[in-house]
Amino acid sequence: MIDALSIAQQLVRCPSVTPADAGALGVLENLLKAAGFEVHRVTFGEPGTADIDNLFARIGSDAPHLTFAGHTDVVPPGDESAWRHGAFSGEVRDGFLYGRGAVDMKGGIACSLAAVLQYLADHGGKPGKDGKGSISFLITGDEEDLSVNGTVKLLQWVAARGEKFDHCVLGEPSNVEMLGDCIKVGRRGSQSGMLYVDGIQGHVAYPQRAANPVPDISRLIVAISDEPLDHGSAQFQASNLEFTSVDVGNTASNVIPGQARAKFNIRFNDHHTRATLRELVEARLAKAAGNRIKARIVWEPSNSDVFVTKPGPFTDLAVAAIEEVTGRKPELSTSGGTSDARFIASYCPVIEFGLVGQTMHQIDERAAVSDLEKLTRIYRGVLDRYFG
Ligand SMILES: [Zn+2]
Repeated sequence: MIDALSIAQQLVRCPSVTPADAGALGVLENLLKAAGFEVHRVTFGEPGTADIDNLFARIGSDAPHLTFAGHTDVVPPGDESAWRHGAFSGEVRDGFLYGRGAVDMKGGIACSLAAVLQYLADHGGKPGKDGKGSISFLITGDEEDLSVNGTVKLLQWVAARGEKFDHCVLGEPSNVEMLGDCIKVGRRGSQSGMLYVDGIQGHVAYPQRAANPVPDISRLIVAISDEPLDHGSAQFQASNLEFTSVDVGNTASNVIPGQARAKFNIRFNDHHTRATLRELVEARLAKAAGNRIKARIVWEPSNSDVFVTKPGPFTDLAVAAIEEVTGRKPELSTSGGTSDARFIASYCPVIEFGLVGQTMHQIDERAAVSDLEKLTRIYRGVLDRYFG
């Protein structure tokens, strides 16, 4: 039986820096076909973006349908000569698999595939009780860069075929320090905007003929960001609004600028939707600006909504599988940045559990071989309990 380490090595040896596939999906396709999966390779593109290869593979046609999601693309290796072992070598040294993607997240995909292959071998090649149930893999090559020709379009494509998911495990590196630390069950949403304040340009010696937007934007920044947006919720930390840049584009010291602008980003929890959040911020702006200050906000398009998978039987079985292998009871966390789980959450409950994230995106990214073995056993435990 093929193990997670050898699958992970094959994947790491494909230099699949977004948007390149470099053979990575082919590695999965061959293994999945040999195990009886129906495998689809689909390419998505749109003007101004690179075409991206994606893969959907399913075995079984009945519910319940458990899907393992992930991405085979990786971030660039940086200075390759700085790596102790080649960035795409897939070398194993001192108990670690080295290479870009070892942790984020070719290692996680390899563990889920190895667990599924073992599970099927033990169950006559069919998922579920009495052969009822489905397992699938939803793998994209567009997570690390633009995320436009990947999971979003792949989910739409799968839905258009009439397929439904019941639950999803996304194998992103969710653990902070040790395997078993943390299951991600949600993420905050993200919304960026730009605040514009219009004044009247003029000579600094004749301020009566000008209107200086700099003091005004300072007041507005304080008025918008001083008061907390909320105080957190049952599953989330408090939302926060951060101004990240203030600009007037002025190179002269004797000119009052005509306009000032300030960039901000909001990470928001389940007290808000993007619409209610925009209303809240605009109300604060209107109150502070009054009739005197000419100000407006331009909101950036955003596809990062808040989501959460509430604790229940699905999270319970994942916790049990993790505890059995690691002896640790994982925290159900909603911290951190965005991932493709935000898209999957519109289709079915999703949890994220994978390797330990410490070295992801770094020089010498590496996964402990013992963690690959343990994560495979955890995924196997999830399968046994899910279809049990
Ligand atoms: Zn990732």
